Amino acid sequence: MFNNLRELILSMPTEVACREYLAKQRWQDGKASCPYCGHNKCYVIEGGGRYKCASNKCYKRFKITVGTIMEASNIPLVKWFTAIYLVTAHKKGISSYQLGKNIGCTQKSAWFMLHRIREALRRKDEIVLGETNPVEADETFVGGKFGNMNKKRRMKYKDIADPMANKTTVLGVIERNGELVARVMPKKNTYKIPQTITELVKKNATLITDSSNMYSRITNSYNYHSVNHGIFEYVKEGDIHTNTIEGAFSHFKRMLIGTYHQISSKHTQRYCDEFAYRYNSRKVKDADRFNITMENIEGRLTYKTLIAAPIPVQVEMPSKPKNRHKGVFQVKDGEIIAHYRNVHVAAKETGLRSGNIHRVCNSQRKSAGGFDWIYA
Ligand SMILES: [Zn+2]
Repeated sequence: MFNNLRELILSMPTEVACREYLAKQRWQDGKASCPYCGHNKCYVIEGGGRYKCASNKCYKRFKITVGTIMEASNIPLVKWFTAIYLVTAHKKGISSYQLGKNIGCTQKSAWFMLHRIREALRRKDEIVLGETNPVEADETFVGGKFGNMNKKRRMKYKDIADPMANKTTVLGVIERNGELVARVMPKKNTYKIPQTITELVKKNATLITDSSNMYSRITNSYNYHSVNHGIFEYVKEGDIHTNTIEGAFSHFKRMLIGTYHQISSKHTQRYCDEFAYRYNSRKVKDADRFNITMENIEGRLTYKTLIAAPIPVQVEMPSKPKNRHKGVFQVKDGEIIAHYRNVHVAAKETGLRSGNIHRVCNSQRKSAGGFDWIYA
């Protein structure tokens, strides 16, 4: 095996060696299984360059890279392996220019490779934080200053008074001595942040945030503490602070400013994934990190998807009661005797209390004024 980049290149100097390594990583006992139908008997053809499915219903030919981040790429595996090693080993990431120069391809190819590698760095399993240690949550904002923009870009924002209009919100949730999760949050939405926290953090865990009132709706689910940075309160009662997450964010900002300089808001989540991966694997050796990444390469990201227009983040708002605009029926002995435009009109006309009619409609009460009430 290998412990550094030089040994990696020496241990896998050819395409054949890389393919053998990949076969061992992807398939049990190194025996090919068809990525299209899952059949586990395949013929080796083209001197090991491709395989052919032995199932008489499929017979498809495929390369070993089908179904991975390297699918349909003309870049040799040797270069891919070097790139993956460089990306995962560099403390602050590597720019597409630098990577292109290092492995000998164009900046555009390197940029695409980097995004595909980030896809492999993304966590696909479910994460639960707060099992043992306190959890800290905070947001940060990614995006340049208006003053540093060129005139054309600056003019786009000239009618917008909000100084944060061009910024992307990133939520960071971290368990002390544990793992970090960084997620891009939709703009102007204070609902999504607490919702994401409840998805990530175990109920009744210790949760520490800043004093934003956005968290008020989830305080009951946790052993909740907050620190008020507004009045220069940073640490209270010994270990109530958000310094761990702020420390992690400062590394994130270093990576963005020092290496990538400028990132598109569309791709911010991928940079977050890269950063979270690097942070969470900070105690792992470079060579092990390479192997872990190679185990996670399933899943293709096409160039078309990558450069496509961003999909607006869908936010699920709490659903409103259905049919409330259709009015309400007044029911006596199972028969509808009247229809009202809404509960308030019904209450006014019958002289009952609207709250009682509501309760009957929502099955919280049996009757109101001797009538049954149902939403139309
Ligand atoms: Zn097949």
